[in-house]
Amino acid sequence: MTKRYAVIGHPVAHSKSPQIHAAFAAQAGIALTYEKVESPLDGFLKTIDRLRGDGFSGANVTLPFKVDAFRLAMERTLRAEAAEAVNTLTFDAANIRGDTTDGVGLVRDIESRCGRALKDQRVLIVGAGGAARGAVGPLLAAGPVKLAIANRTLARALDIVQLFADTGPVSALTLGELPQHQFDVVINATSASLADALPLVPSGVFAPGALAYDMVYGKGQTPFLQLAAGAGARTADGLGMLVEQAAEAFHVWHGVRPDTAPVYRQLAAGG
Ligand code: NAP
Repeated sequence: MTKRYAVIGHPVAHSKSPQIHAAFAAQAGIALTYEKVESPLDGFLKTIDRLRGDGFSGANVTLPFKVDAFRLAMERTLRAEAAEAVNTLTFDAANIRGDTTDGVGLVRDIESRCGRALKDQRVLIVGAGGAARGAVGPLLAAGPVKLAIANRTLARALDIVQLFADTGPVSALTLGELPQHQFDVVINATSASLADALPLVPSGVFAPGALAYDMVYGKGQTPFLQLAAGAGARTADGLGMLVEQAAEAFHVWHGVRPDTAPVYRQLAAGG
């Protein structure tokens, strides 16, 4: 029987997930459907009930419902517990399992496609929202010598540090402290690029040979990536992270690890 999946968001029209999962399914020879479902902002639980009633096997969850999905899941993976967010739900008759694949997707994209091993690197995340929180566990697991989180609202960065303090060398910085530091990998996990804005990051923060990574995709050379390129850093946007988090979700659901390279190339070419 053809299994049914969906991505739930608000808005969701822009989502590339149906295209990505269709490409993975074609590679793996798995029959499935994957559709976009826009949930009312106050109707996430009803949307999930409807999908389960209609026989869906699972769903990805995007903004702004990742915390709602975390609360709703009856069973959660350790990495979802650590991130306090869920982007992948698996349904069966009696259970809803929650997982998060964003952080693993980010690390895989940086290490594999960008070719930058994170072991012993000095890593900075700018931003302390859901995406940053989900990235910290997988980034620490990759063995950086230092992982700093800088955020406009310091308290949110401190909250994340407290959650992960026992896991690795993680610390918080104010944006004002950044001029005193240099990093080998600088990740923009703020939503500033969505508004074509630049978080207050000084150009001196990029160490020689640094990689600058903007989690936002589809916005071209964002102000953050322009600043980084001007400072001599290599740049990457979040398209690869999107493809890799989808591949991890595909693995969760189907036990198959797809080849992400052709799917990334197709999307990067505008296909
Ligand atoms: P979020 O929870 O709303 O957090 C937004 C963060 O951005 C907060 O830390 C906020 O700081 C900061 N911020 C917003 N505008 C800023 C500005 N002008 N200057 C400095 N900081 C600013 O959002 P999120 O879920 O973490 O998502 C963050 C970004 O990651 C989004 O752009 C999203 O598209 C992207 N993302 C990409 C993928 C992917 O697959 N590529 C996956 C997940 C997310 P305050 O705390 O001070 O408000």
